[in-house]
Amino acid sequence: MKNTIKINTHKNIDWTILEHISWRSQKLYHRLLQYRLSKTITRVAGPLYCQNHDVVQMDISYCCDLKCIDCNRNCSQAPSGDSISVQQVEKFINESIEQNRKWSLLRVMGGEPTLHPRLYKIIEVLRDYKINFSPDTTIRLETNGFSPRTAEFISKMPPDILITNTMKTSRYQAHFAPINVAPIDLEECKYMDYTNSCIMKQTCGLGFTPYGFDICGTGGAIARVLGFNVCRKKLPNTNDMLTEQSKLLCKYCGFFWYTAGLKIKLQDRVSPTWKEAFEKYKKEKPALVLY
Ligand code: SF4
Ligand code: SF4
Repeated sequence: MKNTIKINTHKNIDWTILEHISWRSQKLYHRLLQYRLSKTITRVAGPLYCQNHDVVQMDISYCCDLKCIDCNRNCSQAPSGDSISVQQVEKFINESIEQNRKWSLLRVMGGEPTLHPRLYKIIEVLRDYKINFSPDTTIRLETNGFSPRTAEFISKMPPDILITNTMKTSRYQAHFAPINVAPIDLEECKYMDYTNSCIMKQTCGLGFTPYGFDICGTGGAIARVLGFNVCRKKLPNTNDMLTEQSKLLCKYCGFFWYTAGLKIKLQDRVSPTWKEAFEKYKKEKPALVLY
């Protein structure tokens, strides 16, 4: 298929860059990075990573037909049927136009986006924006390709929609980070300053969920499970670094220490804070204010 890209990662950055530098250099790089993330250095130098204001990760549905171990949207650990409505997408597009925002990339993802009952309408709204306001914007549908029905969805997509198909075949993904090992549960992270965030804040794109905007999609999923009503109800402007979200959300995120190259011997891929959070979630799903 012409507009399909097949890749073997999903919502994770491409780590292959590290393969090009030697093991010794990686070690040195991570040492320096860990030092840079410390409270002492951050107090002087400020947060390391900036907010990406060029790309949006639209988590249009938290439903998923695969439920991977370590899903960074917590789709398997804390299932939810919540989804972004067409009206919310229209509101986002109106705010984008008001702010003269010409996104370089709109990532339609989830969960599994092809499970959204109004996917075609959402795509239509996004294409309208692209055609009439921002022709250089790329719209990309990101599917796990697990179910045979996804092929049908892909075949019906207009040719200007880029498709990323991760072609997953099982719940186990070798490259996934232990997302539910919270840095606040780790002795090794005691000296870290969470306002730094991790590189995902700068590379993956602003998170957009049914509850509003976040530093990244993973951050939005953390807020969803832990019941933090911190998602912005208005599209943040380009000067906004959303630092208060980093401070609150990154201390629960396994990507924080994993991307900093900390080598931690794990007894369990779910740390105590997350175990407690999932228990609480099972009893009662948090009530969140919608965008
Ligand atoms: S396919 Fe993607 S969204 Fe679904 S469970 Fe796996 S990682 Fe999560
Ligand atoms: S540490 Fe987690 S929540 Fe924070 S920016 Fe990185 S991926 Fe997002």
